[in-house]
Amino acid sequence: MSTVEERLQHINETIRLACERSGRNPEEVTVIAVTKSVGPGRAKEVLDAGLVDLGENRKEGLDEKQPVLGDAARWHFIGSLQSRKVKDVVNRIDMLHSLDRASLAEEIRKRAVRPLDCFVQVNVSGEQSKSGLAPEETEPFIRALAGNDKIRIAGLMTMAPNTDDEQQIRESFRGLRELRDRIADLGLPHAPCTELSMGMSNDFGIAVEEGATFVRIGTAIVGYESGEKR
Ligand SMILES: *Cc1c(COP(=O)(O)O)cnc(C)c1O
Repeated sequence: MSTVEERLQHINETIRLACERSGRNPEEVTVIAVTKSVGPGRAKEVLDAGLVDLGENRKEGLDEKQPVLGDAARWHFIGSLQSRKVKDVVNRIDMLHSLDRASLAEEIRKRAVRPLDCFVQVNVSGEQSKSGLAPEETEPFIRALAGNDKIRIAGLMTMAPNTDDEQQIRESFRGLRELRDRIADLGLPHAPCTELSMGMSNDFGIAVEEGATFVRIGTAIVGYESGEKR
């Protein structure tokens, strides 16, 4: 059994090598530890190992962990967010990785007390099972948010296609980067769009090679929890 700290060292080494191969600086990459499947005890181990960015995909995950960990962490919401839950979530998170529709943006406008850094989720691979905007819908969607004073578009987010084919995974990450570059070049004041949220336990090395600035890593950091640490 390896510890969180050992697993994190291995991940940092993988990121360092991926940066070396692609001529990037590892400091450009932020690791988000996805703690959605473990309890506050394991999440605390992640913070003790030196990470500050935690990812949750349900309101209940925030309810369970924030009273224990609170200000020690930076909170990322990575799951699809129902509009009726916005009011319970929006003012407790630092970044939202799953902005995917106008009705969600409007609910955030009504409920947020300050501007929220958001990633627009894009379905680059076009898989039916995946949420997110089609690539060609992304720029018009972002332009239409110009009047929404509670939303700042930090960047774009995607999930790789469900395949073992590394080339297909790489192409979807590259597609997101190219789209990010085009949108950043527009110079929209509400959408600096400099960031790329992509890469999970099985594919973060590829994502870093293709330009990820935030990787969302769950099992490879926190492992599978059998319940003893909860
Ligand atoms: C669960 C989840 C992750 C982390 O997945 P792992 O395979 O455990 O690394 C990343 N992003 C999203 C959106 C998730 O739901």
